[in-house]
Amino acid sequence: ALAHYASLRHEPAVTKDGVRIELQMNAGLLIDMPHLEETGAKAVGLFRTELQFLLGQSLPTASAQETLYRQIMDAAGDKPVIFRTADIGSDKRAGYMTGPREANPAMGWRGLRMSLDREGLMRTQIRALISAARGRDLSFMFPLVTTREELITAKKMVDKELDRYRKLHGEPPKIRIGSMIEIPAAAWQLREIARECDFLSIGGNDLAQFFFAADRETDAVSRRYDPLSPSFVSFLGRTVKEAKAAGKPIGYCGEQAGDSLMALALLAIGVETLSVPASAIGPLKAMIRSVTFGELRDEMARLMSLDLPSLRPALGEWAASHEV
Ligand code: PEP
Ligand code: MG
Repeated sequence: ALAHYASLRHEPAVTKDGVRIELQMNAGLLIDMPHLEETGAKAVGLFRTELQFLLGQSLPTASAQETLYRQIMDAAGDKPVIFRTADIGSDKRAGYMTGPREANPAMGWRGLRMSLDREGLMRTQIRALISAARGRDLSFMFPLVTTREELITAKKMVDKELDRYRKLHGEPPKIRIGSMIEIPAAAWQLREIARECDFLSIGGNDLAQFFFAADRETDAVSRRYDPLSPSFVSFLGRTVKEAKAAGKPIGYCGEQAGDSLMALALLAIGVETLSVPASAIGPLKAMIRSVTFGELRDEMARLMSLDLPSLRPALGEWAASHEV
């Protein structure tokens, strides 16, 4: 199978009936980057910038941040990278960081919530990203957006950095700003959020955690609720439909998309961009190339009408009988 995946490296991820899917890679370290070429992924769909913050003994300096971002963009070459601004706070906190004690850190002071309260931290990171891009287009997105107002406030910080750059260096790089959709409230008011950004990316790990109210770090509950339950899939379906109605591209960067049955469900509801761990790119591409999208969509519509506890067994049977 591995040789087969390697042989597909330069082939497109396209279904038998011509639906083209963009397969992107999740990354967080410089050593992840060679996988971009090895797997044939089209982009880094999620670069987790917080890893640099969490691995060090102290806050990375502005210049250390800029250096890393430049190295990442250099390593990606012509392929785009979507940087996710630091999703730190609560449980993703390094020893040198301080913050409140929280009973429910996953729902606590983290991600964009923390960045909005720590303007210096956020603006240093944005400044580093803008400086690192130097002549190249730049894409980044904010984690854990809950309301449109938060996104607007974050964008004001970006504007301040763009103004600063203009005064010091001239025209800044072209910037695309995305919002992660990983909180049900954000998914529910998708059109309002979409209006404020250029693209959307569903963080399925957190979105499922909050949808099912089941801590992703607690084994006793994290596997109890299948993301392939009709409730979650229909919720995702509505989210994707709203994004399309708003005319904004939407991808899925939660790790579940690396599961081929989940990926089938995502395809069926109209997701055309999947960002997954490098090891999942080959298997997903092989799977996509064996599917007839029209048949899959019809089967999903049928399964959704059956009131099943999970789509998994039936979707698995369908895949096996269609040699997917
Ligand atoms: C997610 O929540 O699905 C996501 C991609 O972000 P992280 O796993 O880093 O929280
Ligand atoms: Mg997340």
